[in-house]
Amino acid sequence: MRIHHLSCGTFCPRLRRFLYGSGGVLARAEMPCHCLLVETDAHGLVLVDTGLGIQEMRNPVERIGAARYVMAPVLDESLTAIRQVEALGFRREDVRHIVLTHLDFDHAGGLGDFPEAKVHLLAAEKNAAMAPATRLEKNRYKEFQWDHDPLWRPYEPTGEPWRGFAAVRELEDLPPEILMFPLPGHTRGHAGVAIQDGDEWLVHAGDSYFYRGEMEQPLRTTRGIDIYQRMVAVDWNQRLENLERLRALRHGHDDVQVFCAHDLDELRALQSLAP
Ligand SMILES: [Zn+2]
Repeated sequence: MRIHHLSCGTFCPRLRRFLYGSGGVLARAEMPCHCLLVETDAHGLVLVDTGLGIQEMRNPVERIGAARYVMAPVLDESLTAIRQVEALGFRREDVRHIVLTHLDFDHAGGLGDFPEAKVHLLAAEKNAAMAPATRLEKNRYKEFQWDHDPLWRPYEPTGEPWRGFAAVRELEDLPPEILMFPLPGHTRGHAGVAIQDGDEWLVHAGDSYFYRGEMEQPLRTTRGIDIYQRMVAVDWNQRLENLERLRALRHGHDDVQVFCAHDLDELRALQSLAP
């Protein structure tokens, strides 16, 4: 198994001081969309989250909407998962599986670029996106990102206990080293993805947290990060409970690397460790 850490989209909002407490009033932050591309021995390529896709790059007005004014995405097709897969010498159809932390537009944008892939996710997340119940849910999900009718493979939140998490499970047609576990709070059916790589575990925590300081001991955050997360979380208490579980996982085990989707330093550190 070989694992690539990719950023499939970059946001450069003028929010650096607000989010990270440094830089001028109009300084830009740089937020990646951290995805994994896993080369498996017998199951083809597996993509964990898909970032922004070709259509977001070509039609930002329609596909990203007003959020583009705040989030300032870099509109460059070479950042998309499909173009990075091709640059590595693979074909679109080599990506046979996509595992999603959740269906926000910056995680599901590339779904349409791999129309034949099986899409693994928690059933609660699919339900939230298909039948959004609140204004927050109605605004966050973009149904045109799955109008190609993907081969969904939804899962109930059941499984085996694992390192503080109640229900970790294997995924259909995927190797046993790739596991999913419920990590709700940011969205209804948000999931974490754990991958065993030799003696180490890599844990993609999606948007369960946004800033590396939230994993540090003691916890370090900023007012801006806190305000932003409160705006986008469907269940704040659930988010905090799962953040504590992730922190216990990170600090209780030397063989675990936990990372979130949008922290640039975490992405760079993991890319620098890659063979
Ligand atoms: Zn996100």
